[in-house]
Formats: sequence, structure tokens, C-alpha cells
Amino acid sequence: MNVEVLQRSIRGRVFSDRQTLENYSVDSSLYQIRPSLVVVPKTIKDIIKTLLFATKNKLSVTPRGGGTGLVGSALNSGIIIDLRNLDRIRIFQNHVEVGAGVHKGRLDQILEKHGKFLGPNPSVGPYCTIGGMIGTNASGSRSLKYGSTIDNLLEVTMITASGKMLKLPSRTRLAQSVVKLARQVDRQKYPQVSKNSCGYRLDAVSNISETQKIIAASEGTLGIVVSAKLRIYDLPKKRILVILGYESIKEAAIDCQKIVKLRPSALEFVDHNTMKNITARFPHEIKCLLYVEFDANTGRNVSLLSNIIAGQILYKFSDKKSIAKWWTARNSALYFSLKNLLSSKTLPHIIEDATVPLHSLADLLLLAEKTARRYGVRLVMYGHAGNGNIHIRLASKNKCKKTINTIAKEFFTQVITMKGTITGEHGDGIARTKFVRMQYGHRTYELFYKLKNEFDPHNLLNPQKIVLARHSRGRQQLLL
Ligand SMILES: Cc1cc2nc3c(=O)[nH]c(=O)nc-3n(C[C@H](O)[C@H](O)[C@H](O)COP(=O)(O)OP(=O)(O)OC[C@H]3O[C@@H](n4cnc5c(N)ncnc54)[C@H](O)[C@@H]3O)c2cc1C
Repeated sequence: MNVEVLQRSIRGRVFSDRQTLENYSVDSSLYQIRPSLVVVPKTIKDIIKTLLFATKNKLSVTPRGGGTGLVGSALNSGIIIDLRNLDRIRIFQNHVEVGAGVHKGRLDQILEKHGKFLGPNPSVGPYCTIGGMIGTNASGSRSLKYGSTIDNLLEVTMITASGKMLKLPSRTRLAQSVVKLARQVDRQKYPQVSKNSCGYRLDAVSNISETQKIIAASEGTLGIVVSAKLRIYDLPKKRILVILGYESIKEAAIDCQKIVKLRPSALEFVDHNTMKNITARFPHEIKCLLYVEFDANTGRNVSLLSNIIAGQILYKFSDKKSIAKWWTARNSALYFSLKNLLSSKTLPHIIEDATVPLHSLADLLLLAEKTARRYGVRLVMYGHAGNGNIHIRLASKNKCKKTINTIAKEFFTQVITMKGTITGEHGDGIARTKFVRMQYGHRTYELFYKLKNEFDPHNLLNPQKIVLARHSRGRQQLLL
């Protein structure tokens, strides 16, 4: 492999030094894979040349955004291609055209000046990129009302494994193959949930005009996204945030079914462990909280809310500063949970993103508690309750990898029985790719193989993610 040849042929940078390779060997997960090269392209031509170089040198290519993914989706051997220079933003009335490397924080600031916002809002805030959000089908608290990335994705422009530019939707051969495979899908095998980042989202495609949706949650395995058109919304005139307190998680989960009928813009769950990190007073009997936010008919909705809930209204905020402060506390739940669990030892985050139909939310929360008790591990839970999506962190000093796999198999079996998904927003990555077949069954999994083969017949793009190839090109190791 002659790295100099690649460096001379592109305008961007090629890195092969130890420090850079180590930086890109990790993301926000607990995994580590050292790449062979890191390329930071400046132009689309650079990306195409990198793909041709990779093909010639039998190296894989994995796109990377902010590296905030939680399951190792952006880690691989071979070449990591960092899209940070594709950072153009163009704002229109109801949509925005953005480069894949645009950081969400920068986009938010610009949109706000235009009185607009993007629906999906991962709690990681400003640090993730549009490419990464598409790659994982990211969502967030406001996805309850405004949908996940897949629901807001109007068009994708990408470079395929063969180095060709492809726009979706379009009447191209690849788009037609997507529709053909989508028609063979048994939609009953898909989870019956409002958000899903497991496998390929063939269920979201009914015709050519929806073919761009197949790229959402595809984790860089079908192409390298260079830009996208995403729907945007008018900033609401007013928001109100209500904090509800509950004596039991079951009571809170049951209330969620009533609360969603009022169309809140967010409905989030915070457990007892996470509550300890919020600087506010709570009555001692309160075991968990629900955050309920409305951005329309606020006064009317709050009075309706007080009539239908079994919990207590603890706080109500309508000023921007307090709302932002309370959201910061909720968005730091992952940080709090890791801080809390540090005295134990965190375990690989495999069962951390399950999503079930809302009527099964209480069962999901109780299942997590039962699992923790059964295996003697500590547990922290929080998440997007209105979507039935709960993040779970487990910790134990002395549990081994084998136990985690046993826990994952048992837990996922129950989640799938509830018609849920093993991942609502973080994706499959290294942590869950081996469970994708279990989620969908053999027939749908075979369609996934066919889809991957249509886009990437030589398994060049982010191999071993979503579908397991016969031969692995990369080795991975756990940091902990
Ligand atoms: C503290 C914290 C809180 C979080 N909260 C949320 C949350 O509330 N909701 C949520 O959904 N997620 C959340 N996440 C997960 C993560 O932030 C999102 O998945 C995010 O969208 C990843 O974006 P990224 O730019 O960092 O992508 P990366 O991690 O760099 O990549 C993610 C995947 O996208 C692929 N990808 C990246 N760029 C491209 C491209 N140009 N073309 C094709 N594929 C590409 C990568 O190959 C990889 O498979 C959280 C993470 C952290 C650390």
C-alpha cells in the first residue's frame, strides 16, 4: 500500500501516524479497532479516489462523523473517512440542504436565527454530525412529536462503493432494487414501534419516492452520504415543561399512555439514580420522574394533564432559562449514570436502547429491574418514554463478557416478544449486529444480505455492521 500515492492524488489529508490512528480507534462506545489509515477528504473527488484506492488495496472504508456513536458503528480496520469538510448549509422555507459533516450544534444556531429547528435532537447535543445522524437514524426527546431522522429525510446524495454519485429518491437501478426488496418484506416481522434503528429499514419504503429512507440507520454500509435534504420546523412561540413525580415506575409507565394523547413535544423518563444528580428538592416518596413538554396549546394541555395523571406535578416552567436548565440535567443522564456506576464497573452497553410499543413500557421497565436483580448487577434507566424507548446501563465488578451475552439474549427475546426493537435510535454497531438476525428472522435477514450485495457487492463499506459477512476484515476489542 503506497500511502504517498493517495496523498498526492487528493486535496484532503491522509494520516497514518500512530496518534491519529489511535484517536480514530475509539468512539463513544467501549470498543476499539485500530484503522490502517484515516482520510479527511476536501472534495467529493477525494472520496471517490479514496474508494478506488481502498478497492485496489483490499481495505475497507468506514465513514465517520463526530464519533459520538454509542455502539462502535464508526469503528473498523481499513480506512476511516472523516467527512468534517463537507460542511455546507443552505436553508429553505421548509427544508435544509446540509453537508454530511455539518455538526448539529452549528446547524441549530443558524436555524434558530431563521426561526426554525430540526426535529431529531440527540441528547449529545451539538457534537454529532448530519452524516452520523443519518447513519444511526438518530432521534431524541422531541422525536416523539417530530419523528426520527428517517421521518425527516427528504433526499440523500451519496457515493456508492463503486465510486459513483447516487441521489435518492431517483429512478436508478439501485433505487428500483430497494423497492423490489421492500415489497418482499414481511412487515409483521418488523417491530411495531414508533422508532427503530435495527437492521435495514426496508419497511419504510413503499415506492421510489421513499427510497432515500433506506440510508437511514444503514451505518455507512450502503454508501458514503455527502449531503442531505432534511425537513425543518418553525420554532414554537412557547414551550412549557412539567416535571411529574411517581412513587413507582409502573405508575409512571401507565400514565405515559394517557399523556401521549395530548401530543406533547417530549415525554421522558428519569429513574431514581439519575434524579440524585438533579439539583432540586423531591418528596422522599418519589421514585422516578416524567418530563412532559408541550409546544402547542400549552395552557390547555397543562390543565388537561393535571386531570388525567396519577402522578404529582412537582414543577412547571415556561421561561427559557429554567427549561434549558432542566433539559441539561436530563440530557446529562448518560454522564450521571456512568459517574454513579464508576465505583462498580460498567458493562458493555448491549441492552441499552430497547424500544417497545407504549402499552408494553411498564413490562420493559420491570423486565430491566428483574434482569438486574437476577444477575446481581446495578442498574440505571432513563430515556424517551413517550416512544417506549428506555436506555439502560448495567454495572458490576465481576461479571464477564459471557454473562452480558446471556443477559442480552434473554432480554432481547422478551423485547422481541413484546413486538419491540433491540435498538430504537443508537443502531446495531459492534454491540448488536450479531442480534439482528434474531430480531428479524432468517427470511428478512436474507433480504438484508441481498440489499447489501446490491449496493456493496465486495463488502467494502463498514463490513461486519448490520449484516455479518462470511469473512471478517477487522478485529475488535473491548476497552474495559
Ligand atoms: C452523551 C450521548 C448522548 C446521546 N444521545 C442520543 C440521543 O438522545 N438520541 C440518539 O439517537 N443518539 C444519541 N446518542 C448517540 C449518537 O450521538 C448519535 O448516534 C449520533 O447521531 C451519531 O453521530 P456522529 O456524527 O457522532 O456519528 P458517528 O458516531 O461518527 O457515526 C455513526 C454511524 O454513522 C455512520 N456515518 C457517519 N457519517 C456518515 C456518512 N457521511 N455517510 C454514511 N454513514 C455515515 C458511521 O459509519 C457510523 O456507522 C448519544 C451519544 C452520546 C455520547
